[in-house]
Parts: sequence; structure tokens; C-alpha cells
Amino acid sequence: MSNYSRRDFIKLVGVAGATSTVGWPLIASGKKGGRVVIIGGGFGGASCAKYLRKLDGSLKVTLVEREAKFVTCPFSNAVLGGLYKMDFISHSYDALRSKWGVKVIKDSAVSVDAAAHKVKLAGGKTLKYDRLVVSPGVDMRWNAIQGYDEAASQLVPHAWQAGPQTALLRKQLEAMKDGGVAVITSPANPYRCPPGPYERACMMAHYFKQSKPRSKILILDAKDKFAKQGLFVDGWNKLYPGMIEWVKGSEGGMIDRVDAKTRTVYPTFGDPIKADVLNVVPPQSAGAIALKAGLANKDGWCPIDQRSFESKMQKDIHVLGDASLAGKMPKSGYAASSQAKVCAAAIVSSLRGMEMPDPSYVNTCYSLVSPDYGISVAAVYRLENGVITGVKGAGGVSPKDADADFRRKEARYAEGWYLSIAADIFG
Ligand code: FAD
Repeated sequence: MSNYSRRDFIKLVGVAGATSTVGWPLIASGKKGGRVVIIGGGFGGASCAKYLRKLDGSLKVTLVEREAKFVTCPFSNAVLGGLYKMDFISHSYDALRSKWGVKVIKDSAVSVDAAAHKVKLAGGKTLKYDRLVVSPGVDMRWNAIQGYDEAASQLVPHAWQAGPQTALLRKQLEAMKDGGVAVITSPANPYRCPPGPYERACMMAHYFKQSKPRSKILILDAKDKFAKQGLFVDGWNKLYPGMIEWVKGSEGGMIDRVDAKTRTVYPTFGDPIKADVLNVVPPQSAGAIALKAGLANKDGWCPIDQRSFESKMQKDIHVLGDASLAGKMPKSGYAASSQAKVCAAAIVSSLRGMEMPDPSYVNTCYSLVSPDYGISVAAVYRLENGVITGVKGAGGVSPKDADADFRRKEARYAEGWYLSIAADIFG
């Protein structure tokens, strides 16, 4: 097992679980009550809402989410590949309401008054808070690629926020002729889900192999290397020989412009490329509300105290998940959920005037190369000099030389991971 020490990993995850999840010591102090408002009911926000109520049932927790259901990006690539339907990745807020006593409001937060501790909603309501949690995920940086704005995304989907965009891309893949070329453009770091574009190529290839085997996938990348690269390339060679071509940034992968109407991409160097299906994953920033609330730096991401997730820009506001600058943790759903548990404990400790125990954090990211071929990367993190840092020797990527049985098991673990995190957050 190359650098993948599963025993160490499980040992450390046990520690992480004990400190950031169920094993957290019950916090008892004389003080009760307090209002926490959370913006965004995704991996970070919904996890935080539930774990705040678990830790302290006297807290009034209000979750503001603009959608009626949460559609996960994890496993949305598998929907594109035809393995699952949209229902599988859609989750309701019913259990958060009825089982955990979270007040869930379906509305958009439009502004934050940090001095007055108030959040204004599009529907006209104003919510007062003692602590605010902001976990809005990412928004696309429209026109960072010339010609790629919100209107263009209705013709050329990014599908980097799951939901209608996923359904649109799937429809386009279904309508594509056999022998067509699907082009995926992948941005420079940092962005949501580093291995996501490459898993997407796998899932498209799986679908093409079944339904339109003469088709090809071209990945135009702004980067020269990517997450789990060796494992992905191995999988492509084994399962989809000649079907997926990856062009690195320094060799023509960078793009300047998109013409959505003709589905044409204009690389920085080289000739325009016309796609049959075009999937642009544009550069991103923290969700718009974080920028509007003055929580982001000039690059569009939110600096935080990495122990408590409290914003470095605004007092009594915590920022989680993709929007935050969380040290070495990648922008993943598992990371956001792990951060949310630490943040919930930090908020309860601070409202009760108690010392917060030392946190630890965890992330595992599975990717499906095919329905029976999974790969993963895992890590455990601790705070070192105020920065979330990977624990040496814990985690790593799955072994390069694994046999078919190992890959099959990893694909099953991927499904198990998904079902268990969905149940942990929305169950
Ligand atoms: P989100 O989960 O996106 O939640 C943000 C929520 O806030 C949304 O529901 C949004 O509607 C809401 N919102 C935003 N602004 C407002 C507002 N103003 N008012 C009200 N509501 C608002 N991660 C994994 O761990 N494993 C995977 O296998 C994986 N696969 C992925 C595959 C793809 C294709 C992609 C794109 C991502 C994948 N990810 C995966 C990454 C994961 O989806 C994100 O990292 C995760 O969703 C981040 O959580 P979050 O809470 O920051 O944001």
C-alpha cells in the first residue's frame, strides 16, 4: 500500500470523530439560549445547523436557504454518467426541521449588517443573531472567461452547482451524436472540488462507451497537473483507451474566450475548437453574499480564524466550506461538513464562555472512474500555528498498483460514503 496507511488513517479519523462530532463532551454551563442564523443549507450550513442543536438544544438555530431541496454536487457526475437520477442526489430539509428543531426559512439572504447583527432576506424579513454562520458555497466569476456569463451558462452549462445545470448538461450529452466531441474546460486553483472535472470526464466516457462509443472527450485545463492525476490517467488508459484527451495549461489548455451560441472555445494559444457539447467550469469565488457582507479578501475568498472559523473581517460571523480559506483543506463537501462540526463547537463554547477543545478535521474524496472502479484521497488535519495542516502519515491516495477487486471495493466505499454523509447531514 504505497503511501496510503489505512490503519493510521482510521485511527486518526477516530480521533477526529471524537473531537469534532458525536464524542464532543457535553457542554454544560449555567448560560442558556442564544440565536444563531446560518446562511446556506449545503454541506457546511446544514451540518452546522444540526450539530449546533445536537450540542446545545437551548439554541435557536435558523437556517436560510434559497432552494426548497439541496441537490448535492457529490454524485452529480454519476448522474451525468447515467448511473443515478436527480432524485438520488436531492435531499429535503424535513428532518432538520422536525427531528432537530432547526427553523428552516426558504429565502435568499440579501445583506448583512454586521454592526447591528442583522440579516436581511429577499422576502422582506430581518433576522437578528448573536452569531452568524455563512456557508454559501461558490459563485461563478462571470466573464473571467470572455463571453461566459450567466446567460451563456443556460446554453453552455457549468454544472458546478448541482440542480438544473446538471439536468441541462445530461440532456445535452444524451442529444449528442455518436462520434461527437464533448469539451470540458477546467480552471486554475483554487476552485470547488479539485478532482471534479476529471471524474466528470470518466463519467461522460462511461456513458459514451455504452451509448455512443465513437465519441471523444477533450479536457482543456488551465493547470499543468491535477488531483489524483496518476490514478485518473491509469483508469482512462485501462477503461477508455483513446477516448479522453487532456491538454495541460502550458501546452494549449488555457482558454480566453467562449462563444456559447456556436459552442466554440478560444484557447490562449492555438486554433478555436468547436464542441458538440461544451462544459465550461469557470473560475469561482466565495458565494456572492459573502462578498457583499465584506467577508472576502481581494481574491474573493474569506479569511478566517482556522480554529473557530470566525471571520477575520467581521466579528461574530463564521465562514465555512468552499467560501473560506481553511488552510490546507480542499474545497470539498466532506471538508465543509467536518469544518461545520468544529465551528458548531466553537460557537457553543464561545456563547457559554468555555474553552474550546483542540479541533481536528478530516476529508476523504472518492471519485468514480466507472461504476466498478473507484479511487480516493484522504487526509486528517490539525491546527499548527493557526493553520489547518495535514497530519503526516495519515491518509494519502489509494495505491497505484491496486487490482480490480480493490477498485471495485473503493467504488462501493464511495457509495457508502455518500449515503452516510447524506444521512449525517439531512437525516
Ligand atoms: P454548498 O454545499 O454549495 O452549500 C451552499 C448553499 O448555500 C446552497 O444550497 C445555496 O443554495 C445556498 N446559498 C448561497 N447563497 C445564499 C443566499 N444568499 N441565501 C440563501 N441561500 C444561499 N465534495 C466531496 O466531499 N465529495 C465529492 O465527491 C464531491 N464531488 C463533487 C463533484 C462536483 C461535480 C462538484 C462541482 C463538487 C463536488 N464536491 C464534492 C464539492 C462539494 O460539492 C462542495 O465542496 C460543497 O458543496 C461545499 O459546501 P458549502 O457548504 O461550502 O456549499
